[in-house]
Amino acid sequence: MSEILSFIKTKNPGEHEFHQAVENVIHSVKPLIDRNPEYRQEAILKRITEPEKVFMFCIPWVDDQGQVQMNRGFRVGMNSAIGPYVGGLRFHPSVTLSIIKFLAFEQVFKNALTTMNMGGASGGSDFDPKGRSDREIMRFCQSFMAELHRHIGPNKDILTADIGVGAREIGFLFGMYKKINSEFSGILTGKSLTLGGSLIRPEATGYGMVYFASEMLSTRNQTLAGKTCLISGSGNVAQHAAEKLIEMGAKVLTMSDSAGYIYDEEGIDAGKLDYIKRLKNFRRGRIKAYLDKYSDALYVETDATLDHQPMWDIAADCAFPCASHNEINAADAGHLVKNKVRLVCEGADMPCDADAVGVFLESNLLYGPGKAANAGGVAVSGLEMAQNSMRLSWPREEVDQRLKTIMKRIHKSCLEAAEAYGFSGNYLAGANIAGFDKVVNAMLDQGVI
Ligand code: NDP
Repeated sequence: MSEILSFIKTKNPGEHEFHQAVENVIHSVKPLIDRNPEYRQEAILKRITEPEKVFMFCIPWVDDQGQVQMNRGFRVGMNSAIGPYVGGLRFHPSVTLSIIKFLAFEQVFKNALTTMNMGGASGGSDFDPKGRSDREIMRFCQSFMAELHRHIGPNKDILTADIGVGAREIGFLFGMYKKINSEFSGILTGKSLTLGGSLIRPEATGYGMVYFASEMLSTRNQTLAGKTCLISGSGNVAQHAAEKLIEMGAKVLTMSDSAGYIYDEEGIDAGKLDYIKRLKNFRRGRIKAYLDKYSDALYVETDATLDHQPMWDIAADCAFPCASHNEINAADAGHLVKNKVRLVCEGADMPCDADAVGVFLESNLLYGPGKAANAGGVAVSGLEMAQNSMRLSWPREEVDQRLKTIMKRIHKSCLEAAEAYGFSGNYLAGANIAGFDKVVNAMLDQGVI
């Protein structure tokens, strides 16, 4: 395994996030490789870690002052063995090829776990939507799609939401694709209802993660009712995770953005969450403004000089990182374990770094990796694609029920795969093994292509 890892590091220099994502999978699937010697002959590890396609392109656009701006666009098709590429688009200044490759790699296993036929991809741009007007966002999205449209299609590559991409961006991207290709087709999911979007898609990642957490707790005869919860982030995933947790009787203590976190000892109830939604989604404000209305809460600014985030040292029963990658390090993980947190469940992709994951796996807490726990979002993207093909729209209850069933199934398959390969109770190993097994079998069935 160390040989393949050093091969990948040499071949993809400086791509630390990608190396981390690969390393995280490779250790778990070793027993599978050992039991199937033909995988070495077929160079499975080298093939599954090499993107099938990588596109990088220039996105020139004009801002409101008439100044030409330039950003870089990406789309990585990592693996299409089990279906057309499906994966998020991220618009954030931190976006690099390494980040898009890590997201695309994670997406391969996540999509396989949903049991739907979707390959793994990711894309995005280093464009920062913060502070930009709707017209600027529109012009940027149009320029982005003017290039990307050549590489995507309803049976080829389908785009979903990620950081910085919501219904507004999806609408602009969809409009441009439709104009260029003269077709109204399902190349994007997360669309508004008027464009053929699915009910529950915006909620799906957060809701699905809470359903997954509830399944994890049930293995220890516990429920979410009455549990105190820490949530990071205040975007799409965090908001809907909070909504479902509140509905299930849990008490949400924190939410955050990149500038800081709020701590409301009384709990963020449905009314307070509604304020946060309006603040973040319509006023595009900062989480700090929570205190303008709820002054008893505490606001703590992010301090980049600290080696840990104080938010993860607040006493609670459960922790749900829902902001971004590598937001929990070993020091944070140590605080969570010391405070006897019973469950850490990832709404974001790879929010816990490798050392933090090591701390969790050595402790007694339940650790739910993002590729399993947050797969509800892409699962409902799959359901949106199905509804678009049938020109049908399922009611909210039906989509929610399907989402619940899918999350239960993912939970079960993680536990079963972990058990079968000697990693009993280890959801990370189970998710990696179950996803890997499905994709590799499809690769072998298709020969060397
Ligand atoms: P949003 O853009 O809606 O929200 C992101 C939130 O995270 C914001 O509160 C943002 O704060 C915060 N954030 C972003 N970067 C950082 C950072 N470096 N440090 C601290 N806070 C940060 O994104 P989503 O909610 O859609 O996505 C959140 C996570 O969930 C991502 O990891 C994404 O990959 C994952 N995910 C999302 C899915 C979806 O359906 N949307 C599906 C599966 C996974 P600020 O406003 O200050 O930037």
